[in-house]
Amino acid sequence: MGATAIVTRFAPSPTGLLHLGHAHAALAAWQAAREAGGRFLLRIEDIDPTRCRPAYTVAILEDLAWLGLDWDGPVRVQSQHLADYRVALDGLAARGLLYPCFCTRGDIAREIAASAAAPHGPDGPLYPGTCRRLPPEQRAARIAAGEPHALRLDMAAALATLPAPLSFREHGERRCCDPARFGDAVLARKDIPASYHLCVTHDDALQGVTLVTRGEDLLPATDLHRLLQQLMGWPEPDYAHHRLLTDSAGRRLAKRDRAATIRELREAGVSAAEVRSRAGA
Ligand code: GLU
Repeated sequence: MGATAIVTRFAPSPTGLLHLGHAHAALAAWQAAREAGGRFLLRIEDIDPTRCRPAYTVAILEDLAWLGLDWDGPVRVQSQHLADYRVALDGLAARGLLYPCFCTRGDIAREIAASAAAPHGPDGPLYPGTCRRLPPEQRAARIAAGEPHALRLDMAAALATLPAPLSFREHGERRCCDPARFGDAVLARKDIPASYHLCVTHDDALQGVTLVTRGEDLLPATDLHRLLQQLMGWPEPDYAHHRLLTDSAGRRLAKRDRAATIRELREAGVSAAEVRSRAGA
């Protein structure tokens, strides 16, 4: 295999049983790798212990194996690598690109309600910047007192480091990025010393992923991911977002739709080949 061989991944969060939509995502990544003689990786994105269950991780591995999707190398389980994400955060903090945010959801909601404009980004209302303006000695005192805090990216400072506007390749076509629409994104949560955006870009780089295939609901996140890749000196993968499967009423499949889980279909006697064809359809 040459150095440019394609590496794809399926990166589910174990918050429920896999459904046909997941099978579609896994198949897209698996097929892209297998058709090109590349590698297909499996990564479990389980940094949130309140939403993720080890039993679902076990079920994901079983369901993928039953579907006939084999993965290369060990499964990376994100919750076992929190120290790695800390190193990346420390690097950004040392460059003055992060700041601690002590705000509660209520603080943020009140601040937004009191301001004239309330711009929204892909992850919700933009943070009004309250803690960005805290004097350094106040920050230090509150951290020393053990006050819980998130770590936010100072978006303006991060954008100022860019040598040129960012872009990404989606299905082979260059597209412009506008990471500013995320505002000062949370990179380490109050309750978890990391975040989806940080971990996903960190791991794609660490694992040498060259093609990110995932649902189009995550297309907007790519703007922020490209910024993190640029800030960290991580390579730029290609992207191929795919449509999301919907039910007969046109609603996006979700984990609550028990009828569409791989498990349920399997128990109802549907063959793996049939599930694959329904997921690919
Ligand atoms: N873990 C994410 C999810 O289950 C997918 C992350 C990604 O593919 O970038 O929605």
